[in-house]
Amino acid sequence: MTVRAAAPGPTRHDVTKIVATLGPSSTDAGVIRQLLQAGVNVVRINFSHGTHDKHAQVIQAVRALADELRLPIAILGDLQGPRIRIGVLPEPLHLHQGQQLTLVHESQAEAGEIPVTYDHIAEDVRPGATILVNDGLLDLQVDRIEGARVHCTVRVGGLLSSNKGMNLPGIEVSAPSLTEKDRADITFAVAQDLDYLALSFVRRPEDIAQLRTLLPAGMLIVAKIEKDSALERIEEILQATDAVMVARGDLGVELPFESVPLQQKRIIALAARYGRPVITATQMLESMIEHPRPTRAEASDIANAILDGTDAVMLSAETAAGRYPVLAVEAMRRIAGAAEQAEVTRGQGLDRVAPGSATTEETIAAAVVTAARMMGAHSLVVFTKSGFSARVMAARRPGVRIVVLTDQPRTYRQLALVWGVIPFLVAPAETYQDMLTIARGLLLRHGFAEAGERILVTAGVPFNIPGTTNLLKVETV
Ligand code: PEP
Repeated sequence: MTVRAAAPGPTRHDVTKIVATLGPSSTDAGVIRQLLQAGVNVVRINFSHGTHDKHAQVIQAVRALADELRLPIAILGDLQGPRIRIGVLPEPLHLHQGQQLTLVHESQAEAGEIPVTYDHIAEDVRPGATILVNDGLLDLQVDRIEGARVHCTVRVGGLLSSNKGMNLPGIEVSAPSLTEKDRADITFAVAQDLDYLALSFVRRPEDIAQLRTLLPAGMLIVAKIEKDSALERIEEILQATDAVMVARGDLGVELPFESVPLQQKRIIALAARYGRPVITATQMLESMIEHPRPTRAEASDIANAILDGTDAVMLSAETAAGRYPVLAVEAMRRIAGAAEQAEVTRGQGLDRVAPGSATTEETIAAAVVTAARMMGAHSLVVFTKSGFSARVMAARRPGVRIVVLTDQPRTYRQLALVWGVIPFLVAPAETYQDMLTIARGLLLRHGFAEAGERILVTAGVPFNIPGTTNLLKVETV
């Protein structure tokens, strides 16, 4: 066959990846363009808000801009999951400490009672339980349950308004992991060919397995870790999922907020062990919703997540509803760039696999780390169909530039989430030698290597069969 020239390749090479949530502040195509140019790698569509029509417009705009700007951009849909909410109130209520109130499913709520969207609330809670509302700002204690009604006393008061989220910390909620709304959103996400789908309030690995039955092969799942029950089964969930999100907003309400920092470190370390990309999310630049500069604490928080080994850092309200969406991305990119200078982000994960239990990809990834160090190599080239081997390599933080070649457009976009990876979409090649020729050309063209320089290459032989990575070679450019 004739080896066609490699595609021009991405115009920017980000190490830490940035996920930005789009919303009213950022659905205009002009703002999306600025966000992508400022450093966004993954766009998050939050299905908790907005309509399918609006989401479809945004998805189309993101894809057109990604092509025009020659950037690999992944689109992540975020399913609301079994979130419990306050129903519609005639008007906001000021709750004061010691006040008594009654929660009941919205279909049965009478005047003076607080409607909630969850019909099994009275079966799931027990006297003495805590109910938190609006990100934990309001705190209720359950006194007694009468039929479908839950009578509570306000422990910490404040303004209660319609549709606010509720958390029942420590309670095994019996709601199914996918609601009717989620199923409609999944149908939409599949029709739109999204790259990732995130599942909220994951409790067990079966939640991931159930979602997977509804998705086409190749659409990747992000498990949002925000419940204590998920933490109890985190290793099984990591094995079931493709990627994971430390969803600190709900995690810090479901659990005491002081446990979030150590849980974040634990989830990131375990995700690296299983080769799963991690997104660290929520309130990373919260003050930039209103202000043009981050606080020093926020700068430290982003840097520390990167030092922990996160693949991506996420912006939520900062880009969806804040006053300075583009400045927030610029600030995050600057903070990430500075944190990436630290030697501590390199060479992690050498001891994460128990002896005798490593998969072929893990073995090759470990060999890459050692070989790169011994040779002083600067570049690793990964040939991949599904992107799986590239994710496993990146999770080992090999300390070299990770150039990934794929002929699969979806894989190219999905790799936008993975730490350190520079994805290239290339024309299909029939043999390893053909692909190597393409790789040599683009390494030289992008100034990643000089003629005669030794590089590391991983691939699967026989070539072109997904899921067969079994080869590590030292090649010369
Ligand atoms: C979170 O709780 O941190 C989170 C990312 O989820 P959501 O924004 O959907 O509440």
